[in-house]
Amino acid sequence: MTTPTDDIRLAIVGLGKIARDQHVPAIAETEGIRLAAVASRNAELDGVAHYATMDEMLEAAPDIEAVALCTPPQVRRAQAALALKAGKHVLLEKPPGATVAELAPLASAARDAGLTLFATWHSRFAPGVEPARAFLAERTIRSVEVEWKEDVRVWHPGQRWIWEPGGLGVFDPGINALSILTYVLPRPFFVTSATLDFPENCAAPIAAEIAFEDTEGVHITAALDFLQTGPQTWDIRVATDTGTLTLSSGGAKLFHDGEPLVEAPEAEYRSIYRRFVALVSAGASDVDVTPLQHVADAFMLGRRRTVDPFEDA
Ligand code: NAP
Repeated sequence: MTTPTDDIRLAIVGLGKIARDQHVPAIAETEGIRLAAVASRNAELDGVAHYATMDEMLEAAPDIEAVALCTPPQVRRAQAALALKAGKHVLLEKPPGATVAELAPLASAARDAGLTLFATWHSRFAPGVEPARAFLAERTIRSVEVEWKEDVRVWHPGQRWIWEPGGLGVFDPGINALSILTYVLPRPFFVTSATLDFPENCAAPIAAEIAFEDTEGVHITAALDFLQTGPQTWDIRVATDTGTLTLSSGGAKLFHDGEPLVEAPEAEYRSIYRRFVALVSAGASDVDVTPLQHVADAFMLGRRRTVDPFEDA
């Protein structure tokens, strides 16, 4: 067991929904790291040093060794660049940024400074994902269907940034499905067409239908919707030569022709922090932009439709 003085002293930047729901408890349960500060303009945590901004924290608390950027994607690049310049390891919430091109200079800066940059994809740590990848590596894949439908009012209440340019709209959850697909499918794939529905008062889509093809011509479809009330759907179905593999509940459950293979409580963020500690100790980084690249391609190739305005209340 590491002594607390050996722990990585981490600060959370942007104490919002995901920081409170997942990061704070996961850090507390992970050996080798501890929460030493919070930098957030409008929120603080009892018993944890607080700074209004990251800049203020970097100035006042030089002993902080790492930051977890839990802010919206539009402001993350500047924060990551500043933190790396100040010699801090950086963990990025998903999506890792607002553009694809901003990630390479951050990865170079981390490499040059001997620091860790970890672009996290929490859904890749869902319990069904590794077994699904192993299963699919040995099958012939016929087709893939993604259905990712949730209620934005439940999961993102009042989050205006999600509707602004760079907020991704329905791709904010949809990119989680893409992070799983890019990990479990054995071959690269690419967008072939897309239809994106933009509410007339929003700069990001509320629904999307995307078609992809892999390098062997296998068809992949994804239906994303941000207005699903009642039961929520986060499913990926893969038709193979030996039946259908279904990852459901965002990857927490795995079925083969309806028979359960995996059903486990989720522990995605604990796995994220375990990996972050391992990356820091190995002096390594992990920055995969592929899921974000697919979203960018869908925006580039997609046909846009204007739909009814979206009101949060
Ligand atoms: P959130 O509740 O809006 O929290 C983000 C926090 O960042 C805010 O509370 C705010 O804290 C700070 N912030 C907002 N705008 C800022 C700005 N312009 N400059 C600096 N700080 C700003 O959002 P969230 O749901 O936690 O999502 C944050 C990230 O986590 C997103 O990329 C999202 O995709 C990802 N994520 C979310 C979920 C989820 O279920 N919600 C799940 C997984 C991943 P202060 O006002 O106190 O500074």
